[in-house]
Amino acid sequence: MKEKEIEDLIADKSFETDIFNKADKIRKENFGDGVHLRALIEFSNYCSRNCLYCGLRRDNNKLKRYRMSSKEILSCAKKAFDMGFKTVVLQSGEDLFFKTKDLCDIVYKIKRDYGLRVTLSAGVLKKSDYSDLKNSGVDRYLLKFETSDKKLYEYLKPDSVFGDRLKAIEILKELNYQTGSGIMAGLPGQNDKILAKDLKLIKNMELDMVSVGPFISDPDTPLKNYSTIEESKMIKILALTRILSPFSHMPATTSMGVLYPNGRKKALLAGANVLMPDITPGIYGENYRIYPGKNIKDPEDNVNEIKDMLSSISRHISYEFGDSIRGGFYGKNS
Ligand code: SF4
Repeated sequence: MKEKEIEDLIADKSFETDIFNKADKIRKENFGDGVHLRALIEFSNYCSRNCLYCGLRRDNNKLKRYRMSSKEILSCAKKAFDMGFKTVVLQSGEDLFFKTKDLCDIVYKIKRDYGLRVTLSAGVLKKSDYSDLKNSGVDRYLLKFETSDKKLYEYLKPDSVFGDRLKAIEILKELNYQTGSGIMAGLPGQNDKILAKDLKLIKNMELDMVSVGPFISDPDTPLKNYSTIEESKMIKILALTRILSPFSHMPATTSMGVLYPNGRKKALLAGANVLMPDITPGIYGENYRIYPGKNIKDPEDNVNEIKDMLSSISRHISYEFGDSIRGGFYGKNS
């Protein structure tokens, strides 16, 4: 699909049944009806950066900051294991407090004691850090580029360099991480032309995991007065992402659920095949506020709700590891 064609499809306000059917068919052919659950542990909400759209930004002094101890992180990993999860996602702001060797030690213990797949999402690091983390057992890394427009990127992320982000994603791929990236849709200043370019870049990156979620303005950020993206457009963007990236795992993001009624279900019907239930202890999770409106739930209740939601669309939880289907990691879905 050419960039202009993608742009026209995004701009078209009519409901394109064909796009949704095609996206859902691709999802079914490549991933089946099983939905992988990745248990999310948000281990620190400190961040050294100041992205305009994010509630964790350095200058947000209204946020109560926390860091989980290694013991607390390991206890969450145990909970994930006991609940039958196959993957934990360790996510934080760009917190300079955690040294790579501390993270390596935590990951090593998670792998040794629970055999879980570990995904890390902790921002841009040096190549040597990515390499050490890989050697300690991190399987996957998530690093969204948010927008492909350099000018917009550097406006929204004033202390980040667009090229560094792209380089970091390249390095992750070189180091044989299962690599995830993606964008936020509906960012202020991101028109349909930019969105089309974003989706094209996602496609060209040949990612193992792709995440596309809606921008939600946070009242404690400089973008507090901006509105978000309308639901039909957002879901169409998800379907187009699935069509352009047929072999990438794609979550129905929590932000979809926060913003739109049955948002995660709609995303699952538009090509998504992954959910990321938050198992961060409530006292912390409520302060991991990259956007407002997060509904902190008991992890067991959350999984039960997910089961009901999946059965209403003839889908089910997959208990496989849900590795990349691109191959070259551990064999297909080992
Ligand atoms: S988007 Fe990431 S790097 Fe930027 S302020 Fe939020 S947590 Fe920090």
